[in-house]
Amino acid sequence: MGDQVAEKTVLILGGTREAAGLAALLTEAGGFRIISSLAGRTRAPGSLAGETRIGGFGGAKGLAQYIADLPIDAVVDATHPFATRMSRNAEEAAHLSGVPRVVLLRDGWSAGPGDDWREVKDERDAAELLPAGATVFLALGSQHLAAFRERTDLSFIVRMIDPPEQGAMRDNWEVILGRPGTSAAAEQALFSGKGITHLVCRNSGGSASFAKLEAARKMRLPVFMIARPGKPQPPLCGTAAEVLEFLQALA
Ligand code: NAP
Repeated sequence: MGDQVAEKTVLILGGTREAAGLAALLTEAGGFRIISSLAGRTRAPGSLAGETRIGGFGGAKGLAQYIADLPIDAVVDATHPFATRMSRNAEEAAHLSGVPRVVLLRDGWSAGPGDDWREVKDERDAAELLPAGATVFLALGSQHLAAFRERTDLSFIVRMIDPPEQGAMRDNWEVILGRPGTSAAAEQALFSGKGITHLVCRNSGGSASFAKLEAARKMRLPVFMIARPGKPQPPLCGTAAEVLEFLQALA
C-alpha cells in the first residue's frame, strides 16, 4: 500500500542530438532523475530536459568518483561515435563503480547509388590524398583541422559552430560560422557558391548532418569519408526506446 518505486538517477553522457532525445524520452516516461553531461565544447548548447552538468570528470577515476558521490544508478553513453576517450572512460568507470552502463550508438552512413566516397582512416590520410588545387569543404570540428595545415596548395572552407581561436586559421582557409545545413538544397547552394570540389567528413551517422552528403551526391562531388572507430563494448542500443527498456528492466 502506497509503495513508491524509487526514482533511478541516470547519467547521460551527451553532446549529441540522440542524447537530447533520450533525456526528453526518459523525462516523459517518468521514474528517472536525469543528469545530462556535456564536455563544454559548445559555448551556447541547446536546453535539455532534466538537469545538466558541464565539463570533464577528470578521467575514468574522476567519473567513478562522481558516480559514487551522487550516487548514479546507471550511465548511458550517448556521446558522439567519435568521442572514443569518453566512451572508454565510461566503460572503465562503470566497471570500477559496479553500475550498469549502456551505449546509445547511431548507425554509420553507407554509400548509395550516385555517391563517390573514398573511405580513409583519419584526417591525416584525407589530407594526403586530396588532389592539388582542390577547394575543400571540411565538415570537421576545430580540433581536427591540424592535419590539413600543410596543404597550402588547397583552399579550405570550414564550418564551425563557435568562432576559431585567434591565429588558428591560415590565408587559404575560410570559416563559415553555423550548424550543418538542414536541407540538401541549402548545402548545394553553399557548395556551388564557394566552388567546392571535395568534401571531408567523419562517418558520424544520424540525420542532423546528412544533408551535405545528399548535396555532394547530387553534385557528384567526391567525399573523403573518415571511417568509424571501433565500437564500444556492449550492451549497445540503437534507439532511445531501447535504452528506456534497458533502464526499466534494471532492478
Ligand atoms: P573525447 O575526445 O572522447 O573526450 C575527451 C575528454 O572530454 C574526456 O576524456 C572527458 O574529459 C571530456 N568529455 C567528453 N565528453 C564529455 C561529456 N559528455 N561530459 C563530460 N565530459 C566529457 O570527446 P570529444 O570527441 O572531444 O567530444 C566531446 C563532446 O562533444 C562529447 O560530449 C561528444 O558527444 C560531443 N560531440 C563530439 C563530436 C565529435 O566529432 N567527436 C561531434 C559532436 C558532438 P575527462 O577525462 O576530464 O572526464
